[in-house]
Amino acid sequence: MRILVVDDSSTMRRIIINTLNKLGYKECHEAANGREGVERLATIQVDMVITDWNMPEMSGIEFIKAVRGNEATKHLPVLMVTTNAAQDDIVQALHAGVNNYVVKPFTPDTIKDKIEAALKPA
Ligand SMILES: [Mg+2]
Repeated sequence: MRILVVDDSSTMRRIIINTLNKLGYKECHEAANGREGVERLATIQVDMVITDWNMPEMSGIEFIKAVRGNEATKHLPVLMVTTNAAQDDIVQALHAGVNNYVVKPFTPDTIKDKIEAALKPA
């Protein structure tokens, strides 16, 4: 399974991708903000997107709206991984179209469970 990881922190991208690799998800791509994420999705095929919320240039919410607004990507499962833990934030993310939500810091088990839940047909 191919996963695009979008986060402005290169350290966080490393942590997430290392976690994904350990869980058996070996084909990971990365982008540093929503705009780069959109560009990546125009050139590579992925099966899932994991995105941060707070990023320069294009935020995670704007990115998810772009993903959902594009015929080629609107079906993709999207997992948001963020420090934003308020109930209002989670509701806003769900409205934007995320399939599941992980609050940083996270454990590998949490990532595993949320990925599996996001991949289940609704
Ligand atoms: Mg960030």
